[in-house]
Amino acid sequence: MFIWCSMFQTCPAFIGLLFFVCFFTSVAVHGVYAMEDNAYPALTTIPWDHSPITVYIDNVNVPEHYSPTYKEQVESAMAYWENGGNGHLAYEPEFRLVDSESEADIYIMWVENLEKDAGVENGVAGFARPYEINGKYVRVDIVLEVGNYEGYAWKQYGDANMRELAKHELGHALGLGHSNDRRDIMYPTYDQKDNIDPLLVERTRPFIYAAVIVSAITVSLSIINWLRYRGKRRSVEDKFLGGKHGRS
Ligand SMILES: [Zn+2]
Repeated sequence: MFIWCSMFQTCPAFIGLLFFVCFFTSVAVHGVYAMEDNAYPALTTIPWDHSPITVYIDNVNVPEHYSPTYKEQVESAMAYWENGGNGHLAYEPEFRLVDSESEADIYIMWVENLEKDAGVENGVAGFARPYEINGKYVRVDIVLEVGNYEGYAWKQYGDANMRELAKHELGHALGLGHSNDRRDIMYPTYDQKDNIDPLLVERTRPFIYAAVIVSAITVSLSIINWLRYRGKRRSVEDKFLGGKHGRS
């Protein structure tokens, strides 16, 4: 008897959860599409106020599975952008390698595994973190990992993979955002969930806060309604069933 009672009890929470999920999903999807609508979002059109841009490739403090050939891949990626890159830069960058971190505009380092060593989300292979003053970059830190887990097996990145990854992150350091063209180096293959695209995060954050607040209110209202209803139902049951709440 009264099986519907327990069904009903779970309903408000479920509806609340559903609201929460719907809101959050639509907001997240909206954020992503907002970015994709814009065919080629430059984070900053000409981010550097000087040339050449100095680069320090840290091949001294390296993780266990670092390959000495990775440095060449970064140099090759630098040459790629100096020679026109993907054709989407509004300027011609020129790089100069330097011997210390303190002289560097762009600092490039490796870690064994980004999820473990930098606490970033699963699936991220590299990120570029620009520091900006008055709309110009004063420094960009690029962190690349040397391998990743595929299933349970750890797999080291090969040179070709590292070169593409370096090209992509250097593209961010030169002011480019993500492309929605799968063939473009700035398509987010390597750092799909990278946390560096400050535009996306900044644009989406207020929506996320709003969604969380709205969901919290929705859930509270559902609970209040349910409590009221339960009160009424109890008194009806008490009246007709003499105090037995038909749970058994
Ligand atoms: Zn990226």
